Amino acid sequence: MKQFRNNVIRAGLGALYFTGAHYLLRPIFAGVGAIFMLHHVRPPREAEFRPNGHLEIAPDFLRAMLAHLRSRGIDIITLDEMHRRLADADFSRHFACFTLDDGYRDSRDFALPVMREFDAPFTVYVASDFAEGRGRLWWLALEMVIAKASSIEVSIGGAAGRLDASTDAAKQAAFDHLHDWLRSLPDEHDARREMAALCARHGIDETAISRELCMPWDELKPFADDPLVTIGAHTITHGNLARQTEETARHELATGRARIEGMLQRPVVHLAYPYGDRIAAGTREFALARAAGYKTAVTTRPGMIFPESAEHLTALPRVSLNGNYQNRRILPVLTSGAATAMWNGFRRIDAA
Ligand SMILES: [Zn+2]
Repeated sequence: MKQFRNNVIRAGLGALYFTGAHYLLRPIFAGVGAIFMLHHVRPPREAEFRPNGHLEIAPDFLRAMLAHLRSRGIDIITLDEMHRRLADADFSRHFACFTLDDGYRDSRDFALPVMREFDAPFTVYVASDFAEGRGRLWWLALEMVIAKASSIEVSIGGAAGRLDASTDAAKQAAFDHLHDWLRSLPDEHDARREMAALCARHGIDETAISRELCMPWDELKPFADDPLVTIGAHTITHGNLARQTEETARHELATGRARIEGMLQRPVVHLAYPYGDRIAAGTREFALARAAGYKTAVTTRPGMIFPESAEHLTALPRVSLNGNYQNRRILPVLTSGAATAMWNGFRRIDAA
């Protein structure tokens, strides 16, 4: 088994498909269901420099995934129904849930029509500051800064320097460098201040991005009324909860939700941790989400849902529909559990 695992880990998604390894892995890693994670759903853009391209898929790719699931007889269900099946150990049928993060207008304009074709429910996680038009989608602001600049002056660790951004390759390298640096800063306020300074120097209005891309409350209201739509919480500011004091993290979890409940007049019982990876959500955050009363909370850790997930409802893994891998060949690989097993080191439960 060890050699087999190593071979699979070395292989890419394409190799998994061509070797048929995902069929061999299915009985072990398919689980009882999967929660798919999406961000933007919209027609592809032409630009060569698209450092956030992994966060957007085309409507056609979503349609292909839904058709694939239907052809396999997999139920597409709400998070409430997933919660019920886990609580009742009702695993007579495989299931899939669809979740879209951040509350973008394209969730309504491009994802909803495709979901409707399949009568498929989905959840959209809203960060309340995004809906209030003062959100900071700094990863998109960074893309805009670098897209229009030919060089970037930055001071990293007290050392002033200049990053080349004159070609697409240089822009990508500059983006990766600054993105990793900003995410590595131990204090969220530092990252926020550095990003604000960068935007000011390059004439980018950071909060205008949330007003342009995200649904405000008066658009969320009719959207939330659609019978296929569930609205979940995504904190107030979309900060890194694990880097916040416990008091702040509690406030982000409770108040972000209360604002949505107040504005949309409906209970909000599902959460997505912003960023959702190991450096943004761990055991403390899983406990805080449980204490805040969320029925489920999803991470961005890769994995399928297993019966044992019922014991870890605020640490659920997801399967990313990644914009860099929009090839129909990988659909059976993603639904087999083979890809996520490869990415998470062959763990069934990853909740610590
Ligand atoms: Zn998010």
